[in-house]
Amino acid sequence: MTKVNEYLKKIQSKVAAKDDGQPEYLQAIDEFLPTIEPFLEKNPDIVASNVLEELLEPERIVQFRVPWQDDQGNWQVNRGFRVQYNSALGPYKGGLRFHPTVNQSVMKFLAFEQIFKNCLTGLPIGGGKGGSDFDPKEKSDEEIMRFCQSFMMELQRHIGADMDIPAGDIGVGGREIGYLFGMYKKLNGYQAGVLTGKPLAYWGSQARTEATGYGLVYFVEHLLQDKKTSLTGKKIQVSGSGNVAIYAMEKCQQLGAKVYTCSDSSGYIYDENGIDVKWVKEIKEVRRARISTYVDKYPKAKYVSGQSVWTIKADFDIALPCATQNEISAELAEILVANGVKVVAEGANMPSSLAAVKVFEENDLYYCPGKAANAGGVAVSALEMAQNSQRAQWSFEQVDEELNKIMKNIYETCRDTAYDYGIPMNILAGANIASFEKVARAMISQGLV
Ligand code: NDP
Repeated sequence: MTKVNEYLKKIQSKVAAKDDGQPEYLQAIDEFLPTIEPFLEKNPDIVASNVLEELLEPERIVQFRVPWQDDQGNWQVNRGFRVQYNSALGPYKGGLRFHPTVNQSVMKFLAFEQIFKNCLTGLPIGGGKGGSDFDPKEKSDEEIMRFCQSFMMELQRHIGADMDIPAGDIGVGGREIGYLFGMYKKLNGYQAGVLTGKPLAYWGSQARTEATGYGLVYFVEHLLQDKKTSLTGKKIQVSGSGNVAIYAMEKCQQLGAKVYTCSDSSGYIYDENGIDVKWVKEIKEVRRARISTYVDKYPKAKYVSGQSVWTIKADFDIALPCATQNEISAELAEILVANGVKVVAEGANMPSSLAAVKVFEENDLYYCPGKAANAGGVAVSALEMAQNSQRAQWSFEQVDEELNKIMKNIYETCRDTAYDYGIPMNILAGANIASFEKVARAMISQGLV
């Protein structure tokens, strides 16, 4: 065992002891630490500074009570969080998630990944994440509004356009951002730059809604171009049917690929004729209904209730998991390999378990981790902040072009860094090393305060 290896093991066991009972967080750390070993071997000053241990401790975690009244007049209470993980590169930035599975472990893993993702965009933003265990499903608009207002009554004291800028994530889209923004404005006055993902009418950015899904597909297209191929004619499997999934499917189709599947937490759709994305948008964005209703218009498509979309055995070239963490186990990863999948690019955060990633690596798939492949959303959020500061709104084409450039740059940074460390096409290691170096050196230069 080398000295660096020993150092990493020591840090890993310290975190495991301190954060016992936070499995998602520990998973993110366990995935991260081994990948930066080659970098630490070549940079003893970073080991000597012990900046890594400092980096693994969030700067601040806020937990708060969110009381709200349901339509029957009963008072309900949920738990709210904001993890302000690292501000070495700029104000904390990261989405808000409203989902019953939200807890401190989930918030911390998401905020941790966000540090490196934000760094890879090349834009001046630190890493954070927040949310609540509130379940927006089957709530009325009024209940969602009252919840968002109560959530913001507390959150507002911890955020600010130059301090911490939340955005959307699972369960938080334009509607919720609107209610949150309205309450912030009532309490503090109009400050456009305090939230991103705002509707276009009040200082939102063109292409923000599309950004994560489009960015994911741009990332894959740059990888494929490097391998002298393209998306044209490729068979794609997508999970989820929310914001990321919808716009990933749309861009795949625009670039000539065929998407066969999508899903929600109740089941999946397999449409041999290709998914009708406009219909999925209608179901999810307008009707706010379940994906099972897809077959109302396309009775020949298959809806399978209660099963993962990754259990399908059929020919696919590319898998785009766009639902949630740990949706792909090792067993499901084996199915993807047997299906002929060559590229797995994560629209969701940490959708592949550690064991699944191992399966991808052992079978030489191109594995594109979420922190690199889904960075398009936060990149356009940062562009929204820039537009808000300029009091300007750029055109869709301008933002989209910038997004594509950023995704190309992220892909090339990951590829080139991996190459420099003798692990070609290990995009995960490339992403972790490139972003860790930048954040660690910024922390050291700021005096490790
Ligand atoms: P949405 O709420 O719009 O959609 C989430 C989708 O995933 C829905 O189809 C939902 O189904 C499904 N889903 C959620 N939880 C589960 C579960 N436990 N099992 C199966 N399916 C589930 O969220 P987004 O599309 O915004 O986010 C999806 C992923 O992408 C998340 O991991 C998020 O962190 C990540 N991401 C999002 C970004 C963004 O800009 N929005 C940016 C970067 C990453 P159901 O409706 O049944 O819950």
